[in-house]
Amino acid sequence: TGKLYVVATPIGNLGDLSPRALDVLRAVAAVAAEDTRHSRQLLAHHGVATTLIAYHEHNEREVTPRLIARLKGGEDLALVSDAGTPLISDPGFVLVREAHAQGIRVVPIPGPSAAVTALSAAGLPSDRFLFVGFPPRTSAKCRAWLAGLSREPGTLILYETGPRVVRTLEDLAAVLGGTRRAVVARELTKRFETLRCGTLVELAGWLDADPEQRLGELVILVAGAPDQDDATAHEERLRVLRILAEALP
Ligand code: SAM
Repeated sequence: TGKLYVVATPIGNLGDLSPRALDVLRAVAAVAAEDTRHSRQLLAHHGVATTLIAYHEHNEREVTPRLIARLKGGEDLALVSDAGTPLISDPGFVLVREAHAQGIRVVPIPGPSAAVTALSAAGLPSDRFLFVGFPPRTSAKCRAWLAGLSREPGTLILYETGPRVVRTLEDLAAVLGGTRRAVVARELTKRFETLRCGTLVELAGWLDADPEQRLGELVILVAGAPDQDDATAHEERLRVLRILAEALP
């Protein structure tokens, strides 16, 4: 039986592809990639000519059995996504779960992920954190979803896109309170890398006022909920219930 390598790739800076990742991408029989054109560029940049197979959220259920059959036939394969670590708000879960179910060895080749990269430089507590991926797209759903996170003591890490970031910060401020400390980490490892700290209200205002700061990719990090005595905790539960009652149909 072959091995399935789960290979992290850069989130912007091509220099962040590790030598071990390159060796694996060169050695495997094929690379399953979210977007073959995008990954072809990365491989070509490093002089790697390995065959690419399209593997994305719309075909993963159909392609997984084919990849499993090749692994069972003795070939080693690699899985990459467009950027960062596969499975982290990216395809791959179906394949990795099935590989384990079939007794195939899964080998992680670590590298960047925007969530941990942002946390490492944000200056928010990092002993405990919760990665929650992309928030729901409508404000009502987003607020209901955030209400369930409002008492979380660890630092929250969210993925977002430029066009939606102001709305999401406003939703965060409405549900968690506008004075919560937060950080927006934009264009990490790239030319316009920016880390901005402030309260949720300050950050929403800053991004609203400056469209340039909404370009590119970004991570939002929010400090966890402070400790509370019982009376305050009760008030807080009522406040969250009122937000939920407004947001739910
Ligand atoms: N698998 C990737 C990872 O490990 O980080 C994440 C893929 S997800 C589809 C894309 C999101 O990751 C973006 O919307 C943004 O929130 C975040 N992201 C990716 N690259 C980034 C970067 N260079 N700077 C800031 N955020 C980034």
